[in-house]
Amino acid sequence: MAKRIIATNGNDILRKRCREVTEFDDRLGVLLDDMRETMIDADGVGLAGPQVGVLKRVAVVSPDGYDFYEFINPIIVKSSGTQLCREGCLSVPGVSGEVERPKKIEVVAYDRYGKRFTLKAEGFLANICCHEFDHLDGILFIDKMRSADK
Ligand code: ZN
Repeated sequence: MAKRIIATNGNDILRKRCREVTEFDDRLGVLLDDMRETMIDADGVGLAGPQVGVLKRVAVVSPDGYDFYEFINPIIVKSSGTQLCREGCLSVPGVSGEVERPKKIEVVAYDRYGKRFTLKAEGFLANICCHEFDHLDGILFIDKMRSADK
């Protein structure tokens, strides 16, 4: 595993729409392992492909540093309720603010071996997933932050 450099706001790569993963090969596994290590090293709870300069629809999430999730080509197929979340981002250092997110979501995604799975998430886990999946479409939390916090 190797730590990768995290792109910060102002870098165009954070504003691009990522491509779907079509090959579930060893390179994908290496990327995911590196992302996990990079996230842990940076004390983050999630990391998405573009943040390490890779325009692929991949994200890693760890709400508590213990449970660990990998998402490839994730889609939120259901969402309900709302919650106000205080967010920050490894790519936007020094900024935090409140963002409205769904309270519960259902995600369909693939694992690193290409196996499809469904995950139901709520609260903080749902919050992180929404934040990370936004990165895959070039969206940062500051775009959605309530103006009072800007
Ligand atoms: Zn982020």
